[in-house]
Amino acid sequence: MERRIRTRVAPSPTGDPHVGTAYIAMFNIAFAYKHGGDFILRIEDTDQNRYTPGSEEMIYESLRWLGLDWKEGPDVGGPYGPYRQSERFGIYADYAKQLVEKGEAYYCFCTPERLNNLRERQKAMKKAPGYDGHCRSLSKEEVEARIAAGEPYVIRLKMPYEGETVIHDRLRGDIVFENSKIDDQVLLKADGYPTYHLANVVDDHLMGVTTVIRAEEWISSTPKHIQLYKAFGWEQPEFIHMPLLRNSDRTKISKRKNPVSLNWYRDNGYLKEGLLNFLGLMAYSFGDGKEIFTLQEFKENFNIDNVSLGGPVFDLVKLGWINNQHMRLKDLKELTEMTVPFFRAKGFVGEEVSDKEMVALERIVEILREHAHTLKEIADESTVYFKDEYELPELTEDMDKKERKGIERLYNAIADETGKKSIKLFLEKIENYPTEDIPLEEAKKLLTDTLEEIGEGPAKVYMPLRAVLTGEPRGADLYNLIFIIGKTRTINRIKRMIEKYNI
Ligand code: GLU
Repeated sequence: MERRIRTRVAPSPTGDPHVGTAYIAMFNIAFAYKHGGDFILRIEDTDQNRYTPGSEEMIYESLRWLGLDWKEGPDVGGPYGPYRQSERFGIYADYAKQLVEKGEAYYCFCTPERLNNLRERQKAMKKAPGYDGHCRSLSKEEVEARIAAGEPYVIRLKMPYEGETVIHDRLRGDIVFENSKIDDQVLLKADGYPTYHLANVVDDHLMGVTTVIRAEEWISSTPKHIQLYKAFGWEQPEFIHMPLLRNSDRTKISKRKNPVSLNWYRDNGYLKEGLLNFLGLMAYSFGDGKEIFTLQEFKENFNIDNVSLGGPVFDLVKLGWINNQHMRLKDLKELTEMTVPFFRAKGFVGEEVSDKEMVALERIVEILREHAHTLKEIADESTVYFKDEYELPELTEDMDKKERKGIERLYNAIADETGKKSIKLFLEKIENYPTEDIPLEEAKKLLTDTLEEIGEGPAKVYMPLRAVLTGEPRGADLYNLIFIIGKTRTINRIKRMIEKYNI
């Protein structure tokens, strides 16, 4: 009978939840989904030195935010638990000792000083570093006596000295390692904690994992894992190594060159749909050139053999483009609600948002989502709709030419006779407008009527209006602005600027 497909992601809680964890989880989820199998989450917290409190919760939270849900895991339980390695230490020690009894592993009493000296000598002789097998053939009696005397020990795997270990990677084909170059790795450390290798293999076996889909950086560990499966006499899972996410200089993605924390993406207003779509595209294409997809579409289309190994570059410009596409696809009301915290952070709305405010926010979001890349960008670009008191920008020495020109146009526009006339005529029209709310079409009409009555070109009429209504040479459409801020605020803005600049 075919085994039920089971995949997993196995992050270590060592800091902020990493974007690579989501990437790997996503591909594991899609693979399990395609095969009607299970996806599980395991926390690999055997390295107590790197353990960061709170990190585990952040992993759950950020993966859940993305909709990358697991069927079994430390927080939801499951039939193969516990799923947190720190709760399984007894299991690993037992298995390590089983290997000693089978003659596949051995106790090693070498002191840190001896290992240091060994390394120094190997370095001096330009030999590859590695354990020299010093304790490999101690007699059973000697071992027992030394343990009884309380000497500290580790347990090491007895690697074969000859032959080869081959990874049959589904995407990469056979990767061959010479056994003589693989160290007698430590399985159980002197403090009784397991190493990553031992815990990872024991758990994948006990948890029924059939398919290990993990990042390329683990390839060098895989022959050690294969030898462990052999030593235990267990069936190996299938190994699939995904291409690493890379910085633009092709090094492994790193904090110094890219944001790597999933929290950062959420806090900066990326949609989960945008981020997932981007991560999917890092190593997968639909074949028909389709670039925008949902997680569900990805899962349904998924075929592991179509994963490309190209070495994807993490490109925030591309992510911005993809995120923009998803912001445009989203239901406007929902998107607006998601943007509220960003508006609030700018101080544009308070704790409570009234229905009227919500209508205005919806309109702002509708306008700005056309080109903004993130929810945060929408809020950042919406100052003009909220701030009624502003000045024309100052001209400074270090300004570039284009910027200077734009600002000069503002000053010229309000000094110009036609400009002054346009502002006053428009003000009169707004003051005569019968209601506080000005529908979009009416706002447009007030502007075009002004243009017509003045009888000059649009720049001559609209630039001075822009100057008094926004203080900026470019940006928001004036009719949208008027529609959003209403009659009183429009009048107040104009009057204030007339007074300030003696128009
Ligand atoms: N704990 C490892 C990590 O942090 C797991 C690697 C693997 O999938 O085997 O990614």
